[in-house]
Amino acid sequence: MPKAWIDAIAPYVPGRSTTDDGRKAAKLSSNENPFGAPESARAAFVEAASSLHRYPDASATMLREAIAAKFSLDPARVIYGTGSDEILHLAAGAFAGVGDEVLFSRYGFSVYPIAARRVGATPVEAPDSDYATDVDALLAYVTPRTRVVFVANPNNPTGTMIGRREIARLHAGLPEDCLLVIDQAYAEFLSPEEDDGGLELARTAPNVLITRTFSKIYGLAAERIGWGYGPARVIEAMHKIRAPFNVTTAGQAAAIAAVGDDAFVAKVRAHNDQWRQWLEDEIASLGNAGLRAIPSKANFVLVTFAPEGPLTAEAAYVGLMEAGYITRWLPGQGLPHALRISIGTAEEVQGLAAALRTLVGKAG
Ligand SMILES: *Cc1c(COP(=O)(O)O)cnc(C)c1O
Repeated sequence: MPKAWIDAIAPYVPGRSTTDDGRKAAKLSSNENPFGAPESARAAFVEAASSLHRYPDASATMLREAIAAKFSLDPARVIYGTGSDEILHLAAGAFAGVGDEVLFSRYGFSVYPIAARRVGATPVEAPDSDYATDVDALLAYVTPRTRVVFVANPNNPTGTMIGRREIARLHAGLPEDCLLVIDQAYAEFLSPEEDDGGLELARTAPNVLITRTFSKIYGLAAERIGWGYGPARVIEAMHKIRAPFNVTTAGQAAAIAAVGDDAFVAKVRAHNDQWRQWLEDEIASLGNAGLRAIPSKANFVLVTFAPEGPLTAEAAYVGLMEAGYITRWLPGQGLPHALRISIGTAEEVQGLAAALRTLVGKAG
């Protein structure tokens, strides 16, 4: 018999790659990079084929050093994982267990409740504030049993973000024996002024861990590489429970190349800024039909559909799929009235907006 808390897990639902009838379509369902992987990373990946028969570097020394050099960090305090998903699981696994609570926001990242339940802890959801993290609500839900607080900033699936002062206020309000995990999967899409100060806290505070990923702006989702930074004691505990060779040789090599590829990152960020704004404006122009784009700081936009409007989120999801655009409909995350749309290529974003406009016109 599986443990009761494992039975209670609602499995993670990944973004789809094909339509219901198996056609290939524009995949705007997983917040992937429309440019693909950087050339530099592809070359490193191919070169790694010569050592396929060797185990990877278990301590990922060169990867840690490349990350540390890029972000001015102590390489000894960098942890790496099979995607940042693994780092989230490691944080829950090392700091929470049966009888403990793991706290996060409503509409928070869907891995948090799974990570909590996996280790027998109780997931606790604080209310949001118009789809965004509400610091006062989170603090109000802290109990003596709270061991880990997860905040995705920017958040997935809402795209919302809280600023540096709010993050600092959240941290200041938490007891020191509670680990604050700031999930910065989309941090590289922000401008320097928008930085939430998480990395600075992870450098200095005894109870802050940040997580990052190579899956989003760096375009390496297939290779599953994430990393985290925090106090030495926190990092050491997580190393004890991670799989010994959790990041592949090719993945390490590709990530080292990508993290140094400033030109690629700048190009992706500029594209994302331009087309996210464009898509938000398009959605705003459909406001009469009840559509609303939640203001996003990430590489996707959450669009909500008014219940009394002509087009439901489900109908839009189905219609867009028929038109060749796969988005993410989120009934399992309490968002049956919303679609999450990744920023694709210029053609994809424009094509999707035109298809959505047609669907709204037909429904109205
Ligand atoms: C995509 C994402 C991750 C995890 O990505 P990995 O591919 O596992 O590195 C983590 N947190 C958030 C909020 C995400 O959107």
